Amino acid sequence: MAQRSKAVICREVNKPPVVEEIEVDSPKAGEVMIKLDACGVCHSDLSATNGTIPLPPPLILGHEGAGKVVEVGEGVTDLAVGDSVVSCFVYSCGECRYCKTGRLVLCNDASKAYFTLPTGDLRTKDLSGNPLHIFSGVGVMAEYATVNRKNVVKIEPDIPADRAALVGCAVMTGVGAAINTAKVEPGSSAVIFGAGGVGLNVIQGCAIAGAQTIIAVDMVDKKLEFAQQFGATHVVNPNSDGDPVAKVREITGGAGADYGFECIGLGSVAAQAYSAVGKGGTIVVVGVAKMGDMTSVPTTLLPMEEKIITGSWFGSARPSVDYPRLLGLYKANRLKLDELVTQTYSIDDAPRAFEDLEKGVNARGVIVF
Ligand SMILES: [Zn+2]
Ligand SMILES: [Zn+2]
Repeated sequence: MAQRSKAVICREVNKPPVVEEIEVDSPKAGEVMIKLDACGVCHSDLSATNGTIPLPPPLILGHEGAGKVVEVGEGVTDLAVGDSVVSCFVYSCGECRYCKTGRLVLCNDASKAYFTLPTGDLRTKDLSGNPLHIFSGVGVMAEYATVNRKNVVKIEPDIPADRAALVGCAVMTGVGAAINTAKVEPGSSAVIFGAGGVGLNVIQGCAIAGAQTIIAVDMVDKKLEFAQQFGATHVVNPNSDGDPVAKVREITGGAGADYGFECIGLGSVAAQAYSAVGKGGTIVVVGVAKMGDMTSVPTTLLPMEEKIITGSWFGSARPSVDYPRLLGLYKANRLKLDELVTQTYSIDDAPRAFEDLEKGVNARGVIVF
């Protein structure tokens, strides 16, 4: 049954998002309709509203949602009405060579679901009947969403939705970058550039993995306070502490860190991460930079220092395995989710949530429906 739903929409790039009534159609084959309970407000949503991530408006925002299945489409046999689910913003077909080798985030068909369902269809329209695009194939900053079955993961029903939702982006991306992509070793050292929603989760991922020295670098003192709460052993604010690379060298006794994570999306910061990491270390670029942004590293040093530079997309997630694992760690009090949600908003208040995100006042703001 089609549903009337409020949704947070980017109507025009470089304008604040708006809250509108929309209509969401029933799921077709291989799809499910979910009624959202919560959706995190992520920097990538903001990036879609300012053109850093070029997605065509009108666009329903949101890619970090939790809710319950209210309708299943034909052929969906492993989800039922009432099941609790968390969205997954990378579509993976399950059939291509990347999916078959377990590298789901690299799926050849992922790009088919950047702003539509993977079939190219849309089940969302405004009240004038015009189709509305959906962020990352999900568009879950709305009361209802119809998505592909493969864009949701079933979770245990006893986890509060405003906590569970965060696993759908920030937590998976951050903790996954540390554990899945970098495979941080116990006793090692790591530096994290950018202590926003994702950076804080890289920090706690490093802590869970047993890193001994965890250095957070950020220009905002408030974020560095959060960083310490999430396991940072040292904090560096370049405004007051000077060159972060020199600082990291100092803290690590001159050696440089074993791992460097770039969580901002700036080539200049990726280059700093490269310099802050010691010989044989690993640099992981997690932040999504503006198109055309470049980085540079000293070519002469590449062979003799044997550093590894890699990217990490969605924490190299295998969502159906990793979401339950992360939520299990939360239940065991080993993964911080409660501390991450520093403010909740009603959907009507979503524009303020975006303002707060720009100001950097929250670890994570979450819209609760
Ligand atoms: Zn996100
Ligand atoms: Zn695939």
